[in-house]
Parts: sequence; structure tokens; C-alpha cells
Amino acid sequence: MRFVTFSVGSGPRVGVADPERGTVRDVTALLPGGAGLLELIEAWDDLAPRLSDEAAGRPAYSLDAVDLLAPIPTPRRNLFCVGKNYRDHAVEFGRSGYDTPDRSEALPDKPILFSKATTSVTGPGGRIDPHTGVTRELDYEGELAVIIGRGGRGIARDRAHEHVWGYTIVNDVTARDLQRDHKQWLLGKSLDTHCPMGPYAVTADEIADVTTLQVQTTVNGEVRQSASVKDLIFDIPELIATLSAGITLLPGDLIATGTPAGVGIGFDPPRFLSIGDVVTVSITGLGTLTNRVG
Ligand code: MG
Repeated sequence: MRFVTFSVGSGPRVGVADPERGTVRDVTALLPGGAGLLELIEAWDDLAPRLSDEAAGRPAYSLDAVDLLAPIPTPRRNLFCVGKNYRDHAVEFGRSGYDTPDRSEALPDKPILFSKATTSVTGPGGRIDPHTGVTRELDYEGELAVIIGRGGRGIARDRAHEHVWGYTIVNDVTARDLQRDHKQWLLGKSLDTHCPMGPYAVTADEIADVTTLQVQTTVNGEVRQSASVKDLIFDIPELIATLSAGITLLPGDLIATGTPAGVGIGFDPPRFLSIGDVVTVSITGLGTLTNRVG
């Protein structure tokens, strides 16, 4: 199933989207009062059979007529993110001089994990605030994000797929000057609106083989990033095993799996984002996430 969080003028609602028909079925009434997608994921084993049976009978809206929000507008905690997880990007980042204190083009031998504040999340079509008083070096990073379903600790590689609820798209927008100058990446990754997410949260059963998905990012229509998920240095089972070795993963946790080559600092001179630029991130089967800087 393909879920959205949307608004038709009042509070957020949960819908099942059918992009081919251009419709969204409002399934909010099938959920416990006040529940959003996060609570739906928590109760998935109980709710899934009823949702698939009853969604078709729920009121339908035109997808064009609703405001799409991020599928999980307020994650329970920071998003887990992975740095330098595509070979060509690890090289471009090392070469750029922004990778302090490493400044290394070498590939990481363990996953590099950092996080992004929940308040950085914005929805499809939401504006990316340029924060001109805070940063002068705004960059994009198109990424596949994994949504955890069943939580757990000590999850083995070969059981990791049992903990994946689904997938979405994120743009790991980055203030490169803050990332470089503050050494730790949290600040440069977490400015408000710097985590566009969506448009859909797609359940894992819709994706036959996640490694075949293609990630593509454009800026004002120009293709900047294009790669296959199979090119990840540390694959999704490895990321789940590494994170969960000592941290309990929770339903609804998001793991942004890393960005391919072609970010702004991969160019010489760097091509930072400017006000008015339109960034799209598309992933096969997951739709297109479009946001304008401004
Ligand atoms: Mg990233």
C-alpha cells in the first residue's frame, strides 16, 4: 500500500494513495482516534488486514486537491542518517575539503551514522528555508529512506527485512559550511525545513527488490544525481544490524541510507542552491519529491 499524510483544511489525515487514478482514500476513521501514520505503523499487524479490506470504501479525494504533508510529519525522534555510503560520493566528499576532520577520499570501513532533528522535516512541495543568516552554502542530497516497522535490538542481517515496514524519499538538505565548521554534522543537517520527505510511504511488499531502485535528483530540471540502490557501500540489512546492535529501533524510525555522487560540493567550483531553485528527488516506485528553495 502507498500511504500519504494529507490535509484538506483541518488537521492531518492518513490516506491510501493511488497515483495512477489520482486519488487518495481517507482511512483516518479506520484508525484509533488521533492516530497518524506513526501509530498506524506501530499497530500494523492488527490494522493491515482491515485497511486493505476497507480502504476502498472510504471517501476519496483527488490527489491534486489535497495538501500532502510529510508521511511522518513529526518523527518520534531524530532520523538516523548514513554518511559517505556510495563510493563515488565518498570520493567527491573527501576531495571537496568539507569532510573535516577526515579530508579523506578513502571508503569508510564502518557505516558513518549521524542524525537529523525531527523539526527539520517538511512535506512534498514545502519550501526549503535558505536560512540566509545562518548558512551561505546550501546543498541537496537525494536519498532512499527506510521506515522501520517492528522494533528491536540486536537484529541480525538475515532478519533485518522483517523489521522494514516500508520506504520513502528524503532530501538530506545540508548547510555545508556548518557541517564543515562544527565538525559534528548535526547542526549542518538539522536546520528547519531541511528534511523534505515523501510524497508516499510505500509498504515493503510493494517493492520486489529494493536494490534495483534508482535514485535521481534534479536541480531546475538538470540531472545532478543518478544511481542505483545496489551501489550502497553498506546495504540496508547491514545498516539495521549496525544501528540495532546497541540501540533499540522503534516502529516508525527512519534511516536515510546515504546520497549518491553529484551533490553541489562535488562540482568545482561548488554549485550551492540559491533562492528559487527547484530540487526534485525521484526513486523508482516511490514517486517524486519536489521542493523549492525560498
Ligand atoms: Mg545524506
